[in-house]
Amino acid sequence: MSVYAGPVQVLIDELGRMPGVGPKSAQRIAFHLLKIPAEDANRLASSILDAKARVSWCRRCFNISEGDLCGFCADEGRDSSVLCVVEDPRDIVAVERTAEFRGRYHVLQGAISPIEGSDRSSSASASYWRASPTRAWRRSSSPPTRTSRARPRPCTSHAS
Ligand SMILES: [Zn+2]
Repeated sequence: MSVYAGPVQVLIDELGRMPGVGPKSAQRIAFHLLKIPAEDANRLASSILDAKARVSWCRRCFNISEGDLCGFCADEGRDSSVLCVVEDPRDIVAVERTAEFRGRYHVLQGAISPIEGSDRSSSASASYWRASPTRAWRRSSSPPTRTSRARPRPCTSHAS
């Protein structure tokens, strides 16, 4: 039997399923939500539902996107011969802050770690490994070479 009334325990349980939110944090957030005005709670609930309804994954790079293509893929001014492979959409923000990169991105949607059981089989990872080298060569005006501009270059970053 749970200590809290049904709806409160459900709220705590749901919050506790969020990444980085442990049981104590889930309780603290739940009690905060119970104290705030109803319109604030409605605004939070609406923002979650709105984001879920309007945001999906870019079909080309797997970044978050409101349309078929994300802003980076839709931007014709970006250099499509250079690809920055990132683990997570948040990593793009870190790279963009440098204002040094004008290429395109590919988001793996998680780290590739065969030791931990994640490998090239996820859709985002498989898409990259299957298509990116030939895609980069096809876009190049010169024949495929092994120069740094002809192949996607790895780019590592970690959003902090
Ligand atoms: Zn994209």
